[in-house]
Amino acid sequence: MTTHLQPSIEQPRSASRFRALCASLVQWLDSDFAPEGAEAARRQPDKIDWLRCVPFIVLHVGCFGVVLTGWSVTALAVAAGLYFIRMFAVTGIYHRYFSHKTYRTSRAGQFFLALWGGTAVQRGPLWWAYHHRHHHQHSDDSEDVHSPHVHGFWWSHIGWITSRRNFPTDYNTVRDLKKFPELVFLNRFDTLVPAAFALAVWSVGWWLEVYFPQLGVTKWQLLVWGFFISTTALFHGTSCINSLAHLMGRRRFFTDDDSRNSFILSIVTLGEGWHNNHHRYPATARQGFYWWEIDITYYLLRVLAWTGLIWELKGVPNSVYVEAAKQGRSD
Ligand SMILES: [Zn+2]
Ligand SMILES: [Zn+2]
Repeated sequence: MTTHLQPSIEQPRSASRFRALCASLVQWLDSDFAPEGAEAARRQPDKIDWLRCVPFIVLHVGCFGVVLTGWSVTALAVAAGLYFIRMFAVTGIYHRYFSHKTYRTSRAGQFFLALWGGTAVQRGPLWWAYHHRHHHQHSDDSEDVHSPHVHGFWWSHIGWITSRRNFPTDYNTVRDLKKFPELVFLNRFDTLVPAAFALAVWSVGWWLEVYFPQLGVTKWQLLVWGFFISTTALFHGTSCINSLAHLMGRRRFFTDDDSRNSFILSIVTLGEGWHNNHHRYPATARQGFYWWEIDITYYLLRVLAWTGLIWELKGVPNSVYVEAAKQGRSD
């Protein structure tokens, strides 16, 4: 009996595995592809989707390519520079523009910002904004998908991004962005910009290798440092705000969550470490509320405003400063 039953059990199982593999392959390219429906996917319990995460795993494994390519001062400088430029893309663009609309720009300017944001390899602008707005609505309660107090440190830092239910974008929470088809396109095909960016880094490496051999850079070395290592560091730097910024530092405002202000995290993330300030008043373009709270993202936004690309940076209302003074925590 057993031998007769085996094929009928094995066949559907292998067929469903094959279907899951095909779905993942499509989803690597088209992030809106959801055979079971996006709404149904979001209602599933948390479960790591290993197939879907292969590109994310490759990003980390690619860092070990350094064993083969070695290093050079130029490659290190490029990696650091791209970390800086793309951390701004996350903080100044995905966060302070797409998630909170703390300043204004033109439609062309918005598209340019979306392309810049895409180089950070943190998926599309609408997906990012959707999750971040959800975080503000449910900070540290049971609905918050990346609270260290609900799910533990590692889930808040990296686990949540691997969960099947967190992949689809909830377009209903980003209706203001959904009305721009060019943004929806970049969000749907969210590997296009990262792939073009990786190719650009590799091409610059090739150019340096051919025309400036004295620098000791090769195309593969620059790809490892400028793309894999820099992007992986960027991911973990950003993730510190989801994990450590709700655990480490001081609380100036008695917000409903456990957000905190941390100078160290502000350096790592160009100003996002003033997270308790941010949770108290997310509508402002600045997160360092006082001159001594270093907020490099805000300084760069001021520079962009000076160029005319963006305008109407929203400030901190006086009532928030009064509240800070009343609570005796202005330092
Ligand atoms: Zn937070
Ligand atoms: Zn925010």
